[in-house]
Amino acid sequence: MNLERYRKQMLFREFGEQGQIRLRGSTALLVGCGALGTVIADSLTRAGIGKLRIVDRDFVDLSNLQRQVLFNEDDVANHEPKAVVGARKLKAINSEVEIEPHVADVDHQNILSLCEGVDLILDGTDNFETRFLINDASLETGIPWISGGVLGASGQVMTFAPGKTACLRCLIDSVPTQTETCDTAGVLGPAVNIIASLQVIRALQLIREPDQPDRRMTVVDLWDGSFQQIDLTSLSEKNDCAACGQGERIWLQGKRGSQTTVLCGRNAVQITPAEKKQLDFEQLAQSLQSSGEIKCNPFLFWFEPREKPGIEIHLFQDGRAIIKGTEDLAEAKTIYARYLGS
Ligand SMILES: [Zn+2]
Repeated sequence: MNLERYRKQMLFREFGEQGQIRLRGSTALLVGCGALGTVIADSLTRAGIGKLRIVDRDFVDLSNLQRQVLFNEDDVANHEPKAVVGARKLKAINSEVEIEPHVADVDHQNILSLCEGVDLILDGTDNFETRFLINDASLETGIPWISGGVLGASGQVMTFAPGKTACLRCLIDSVPTQTETCDTAGVLGPAVNIIASLQVIRALQLIREPDQPDRRMTVVDLWDGSFQQIDLTSLSEKNDCAACGQGERIWLQGKRGSQTTVLCGRNAVQITPAEKKQLDFEQLAQSLQSSGEIKCNPFLFWFEPREKPGIEIHLFQDGRAIIKGTEDLAEAKTIYARYLGS
């Protein structure tokens, strides 16, 4: 193994050659390759992780470029899925890293297989439903995860290691009703970069010293320049948590979570059919050609219905759709049923 390209990183004594060798032998699952996810993927790939499995449900949109560092205008024009574009860029950055892209929405049916062979999960999501699902999968498999969240110019980072730290549900029991979302509060690129970098630092530390997870929540407000560390040790000592104390797995069992989701900041709704399909894009193009404008690439089929100006239907091979141009769940479902069936 030639470690020369990582020399600067190994010179940092706390990480050292030992850390580099452990990193090389590690596999991480990255859930979400958007704002936080692209920075995390870029840093871990450059740092020389062994294998990175990337799951993302979306394609590259113009509004992503302000902060999602792996993408450019060509990717927007090509309507390519983020996981696929990301994998191609990462390969060019470090061909020694094995990159495994998955174009999918992480749900209770696929998360455990995505966790197979993984040492560490990184949260690049933008929603609490998926975070609770990751939390359940982490408790079930014993794989630690590093959570990150960012809104406006502030954010927070936590490490959840089963049996060693509190879990997400020790902290909050259900999806919080957010007064602000990225649609109202916006989000600054530099804030994303810092939160994602803090997640990567914690990942490197955990890979170096798996038995010493950081038990503090880091809360940062970049506009103020404030940086707080909140000790969560006492939370895990109570042990009355339904999830990590009593073994409840409501998210993993699919008892929570929805099939229709508004995608924050995208003016779009995602619709997931109850059963996964295997769509034939050519056949679909024939049946829809008289109803509007159609385009497709190997991963995505998109359609602008003539009767619904301003609406774009983006369809993945498994039947999942992102309906752009509305945030109305009912309207999106009606559009899906009308053009694609139920
Ligand atoms: Zn807990």
